Amino acid sequence: MFSFDNYLFALLVVLVPVFVYYSFLYKKGSPQKNAITFGLLCCLSIFLSMTYPLELSGGQIYDLRTIPWLLAYLYGGINMGLVATAFIFLYRFIIGLDIGFIITLFAYSLSSITVYFFLQKYKMVELTEKLKISFLLTLLNTILVLIGLGYSYQHFDQTIVFDFVTYFLVSHLLTILIVIYIIETLQEKEQNKSKLLQAERVKIIGEMAASVAHEVRNPLTVVKGFIYIFKTEKNLTTSQISSLELMDTELQRAETIIHNYLSLAKSKTSDMEKIDVIELVQSVVCVMNSYALLKGITIVNNLEGSYYIKANRCEVNQVFLNIIKNGIESIDGKGHLILRASKKGNSVTISITDNGKGMTEEEVKRLGSPFYTTKDYGTGLGTMVCYKIVDNLQGEIKVKSSVNVGTTFSIFLPLVR
Ligand code: ADP
Ligand code: MG
Repeated sequence: MFSFDNYLFALLVVLVPVFVYYSFLYKKGSPQKNAITFGLLCCLSIFLSMTYPLELSGGQIYDLRTIPWLLAYLYGGINMGLVATAFIFLYRFIIGLDIGFIITLFAYSLSSITVYFFLQKYKMVELTEKLKISFLLTLLNTILVLIGLGYSYQHFDQTIVFDFVTYFLVSHLLTILIVIYIIETLQEKEQNKSKLLQAERVKIIGEMAASVAHEVRNPLTVVKGFIYIFKTEKNLTTSQISSLELMDTELQRAETIIHNYLSLAKSKTSDMEKIDVIELVQSVVCVMNSYALLKGITIVNNLEGSYYIKANRCEVNQVFLNIIKNGIESIDGKGHLILRASKKGNSVTISITDNGKGMTEEEVKRLGSPFYTTKDYGTGLGTMVCYKIVDNLQGEIKVKSSVNVGTTFSIFLPLVR
């Protein structure tokens, strides 16, 4: 009843644009340009799907336009999703102003509204969760189409209906799972490539840092000493005092930068000990709590249990201090920071979620680059140091972020056996 090559062709029509996009176009261009290219490829795929539909032997035809339509929303963004929706309406209108057009209008408008509510969440979640969301959205859309069809054809043969519904649902749901899985795998491959580049960059910087930073530190100490002596001097004018204060704070800043730099260059395995990460993070939270309260931010601490890793205590301390501090600094006005811990396989994951200003994809990519900062008094070294330390521990930092929604830093660290 159902011809398999028919389905394979439909799958090809959906997959080829995806492959073309991720093989040739993904790396080039800005995120906006990429979104537009992807959206247009989805429209092409919709066009082909609707022009060459699937045919069951009973004579009923249908197509898989829902798949590229949903992809346009999920990977091209809301605007490209709307373009794809408009394209479907237009093309269906050209085919004919009949009941099928009304069904399309009804099903895709309602689905678009639902998809809209899932878009932000979709960006932030892991693969399994993504598969679930796309599965449910496809299911909803196909059911809406089926309801429309049910209304329009009052007289039908029971067995044909049963077959049609089954094939319709199964082919859609299967296809979306396959396609999302492939897209995510291709994306991960690309991300790994840029991560490797990043690691290389950090290594070079680290080596340079070792030589320069050490040399700069000594003269700084001398200058600091003299400032201290001058400060104790009696008859100083107020402007002289404030100048000295300014020199002092600026020197401190320089010292922080050098400290960060030096810790980058430190040898890999100094003073490794078995530590309970949860206990360590708790102590960092204690330190940061007053800073957070000052800014009207609550730290929701959901950490419990004990997870042991082998690492240098100071270094891990610095990782969490940096990331928690960044989280707090990303929030304007009131907000919260949520800390969670979980065990997955042989590693512990600590996630730090803020509801701050978030970052664009481009900005997330720049994280960890030396001197990348958006703050007036930032050093742009914090995250670079974090990446380097976690990398040395054979761990990993993953960042999910959405503008105006917030950011989640997940730190994966291997447990001691
Ligand atoms: P700094 O904090 O000194 O600016 P970092 O390396 O710690 O340097 O961070 C680099 C930049 O990354 C920050 O300036 C900020 O723009 C961005 N960033 C880091 N963490 C977050 C976060 N949780 N939310 C939003 N932006 C962040
Ligand atoms: Mg920072």
